[in-house]
Amino acid sequence: MNGLVIKNTGSWYHVETAGGQVIESKIKGNFRIKGIRTTNPVAVGDVVHFEVNAEGFGMISKIEPRRNYIIRKASNLSKQSHILAANIDQVFLIVTVNYPEVSTTFIDRFLVTAEAYSIPAKLIFNKIDLYNDDENRHVNALIHLYETIGYPSYRISATTGQGIEELKELLKDKISLFSGHSGVGKSTCIKAIMPELDLKTAAISLAHNKGMHTTTFSEMFPLRGGGYVIDTPGVKGFGTIDIGKNEASHFFPEIFKLSKQCRFANCTHTHEPDCAALRAVENHEISQSRYQSYLGIMNDSEEGKYRT
Ligand code: GDP
Ligand code: ZN
Repeated sequence: MNGLVIKNTGSWYHVETAGGQVIESKIKGNFRIKGIRTTNPVAVGDVVHFEVNAEGFGMISKIEPRRNYIIRKASNLSKQSHILAANIDQVFLIVTVNYPEVSTTFIDRFLVTAEAYSIPAKLIFNKIDLYNDDENRHVNALIHLYETIGYPSYRISATTGQGIEELKELLKDKISLFSGHSGVGKSTCIKAIMPELDLKTAAISLAHNKGMHTTTFSEMFPLRGGGYVIDTPGVKGFGTIDIGKNEASHFFPEIFKLSKQCRFANCTHTHEPDCAALRAVENHEISQSRYQSYLGIMNDSEEGKYRT
């Protein structure tokens, strides 16, 4: 039988069948996935093959190839990693222009991480009920910037409900992940999307994973209209992935697109003559803020080289 892993608690997995039945399951024997040294061979979001044993438990014998997965180091000293979730359809970053203020550096680091993980990213600007004219101009400029690059962006108010129906449509039949600094309205937003959720348990864990968990167990919450929202305590680390200097430009789509026109195939888009990206920055086809974020990430990876 095939099923979807919706919860992971230690060595137990909750696997949901196509019929909606949830079967507590364990991994059969010890199988490993090639290439990843991980503390958990199976993760939330995995599609697995299993058989039900005499006691009624599922025995997982196979996992389907993953479209993507997010991972974090099990600990600073460990070479092993922990897979937080797999097969994520989309990741939303919730921000507000002023309540608290968001920086483009922060947004860009998040987007780069999503690109590195191959997860489509979308931006949600919350608390639009509070914005004055200046703030509205600011949010419009940001939305124009990010939509031009290819990141769908939305305006919502989690408290008035504006934009929530549209957001629900986007979540339908998808596996979605929400991320955002505390205070941006993440839990209010999730409550607006999933009023059916048992708030005492789920939403509190969804919104208030503030690093008190030492062990990381992820869970997917089903949406009434189909689809899931993933809760994983490790999402805070989204945006801190290690990016090599040579690959940084791959994760800025607008820079990557132009890099074929640079004179040098290994152009770093920093000082080279006849660099199409630098030309585009001068012509304002690539935004200053994005280019600064690119340089910042290049710098990080430079420092990383000396750290190790
Ligand atoms: P979290 O830390 O991201 O989970 O943020 P919360 O959901 O706890 O929200 C932080 C504060 O912002 C709370 O006082 C909310 O009532 C408020 N808030 C959340 N969304 C909105 C919104 O759309 N408009 C306004 N005016 N306040 C909001
Ligand atoms: Zn270049």
